[in-house]
Amino acid sequence: MSDEHLGHLRHLARSLRVEPGTRVRLPHGFDPGHTGGYVREADAAGALAAGVRLLSSYQARLAAQDSYGLLVVLQALDAAGKDGAVQHVMSGVNPQGVWVRSFKVPSADELNHDFLWRYTRDLPPRGVIGIYNRSHYEEVLVVRVHPENLERQHLPESARGKDVWERRLRGINDWERHLVENGIQVVKIFLNLSPEEQRRRLLARIDDPDKNWKFSAADLAERGHWHDYQRAYSDALTHTSTEAAPWHVVPADHKWFARVAVAAVIIDALAAIDPRFPELGPDEHAALETARAQLIAMKE
Ligand code: ATP
Ligand code: MG
Repeated sequence: MSDEHLGHLRHLARSLRVEPGTRVRLPHGFDPGHTGGYVREADAAGALAAGVRLLSSYQARLAAQDSYGLLVVLQALDAAGKDGAVQHVMSGVNPQGVWVRSFKVPSADELNHDFLWRYTRDLPPRGVIGIYNRSHYEEVLVVRVHPENLERQHLPESARGKDVWERRLRGINDWERHLVENGIQVVKIFLNLSPEEQRRRLLARIDDPDKNWKFSAADLAERGHWHDYQRAYSDALTHTSTEAAPWHVVPADHKWFARVAVAAVIIDALAAIDPRFPELGPDEHAALETARAQLIAMKE
């Protein structure tokens, strides 16, 4: 597909990618206020519109080809703009071709299974883009920051040792590689928000009556664990950004830039799949010609 914006968006996606083997130590080296060369929102509007168009066209071919699925993992701290990013980026895509699944505190039933179980149940099938709004990474993020979550998981003694996080990270890599080897591509996005911008957004949820419903005291409590989350994210990004399933750190202080960047990352993954409309063989073309002749002959 030729589109003047495609090359630019793919280049942007590559610039946000955490190269496998990189040691990440947030916040070092990742500026949440970065805007990728755009100065104002208006400068990025054309790229976002092109991104939405490209996504729609890739999705149509992904569905027609029916060989690959795409799992988009979206992780962030509270108020980073996950929901808004999904809404804007996917606005032009056929709703039948996109699944969004949000993962909350696990149910008793979910806690009674292995830690990846609930994330396998909503995987996108071939032809579909599935978005995980929070994901299996919560198992090495919130569960690590609040170890009482681990206590609730009924683990046998042998699965609780000090190396539990290392094993989980390895288990996640193995599972993602399995998915990719079987045609479900995996791309991962961390929306990287600064503490100051989070403070502003939480305040806005209190100040603006239309946003009051979004405010949760739990978000304030989680904010108190900011540094623990930075450490847990750093470890996850360091150990699970793989060739098969790379992480991208998207600067999230400017929502308008984060949306272009999220679109770019998804487009880059789809462009790598390069889905094509199926081509008909000679027999199928002949069958079409026969059908055409029949339809023409049916004219009243
Ligand atoms: P929003 O606040 O924008 O609606 P959200 O994703 O923050 O979206 P909430 O209902 O506020 O949704 O929070 C979900 C909570 O569930 C988060 O605090 C998250 O850390 C928690 N959670 C998700 N997965 C797990 C897990 N495996 N174990 C424990 N807690 C989890
Ligand atoms: Mg929340």
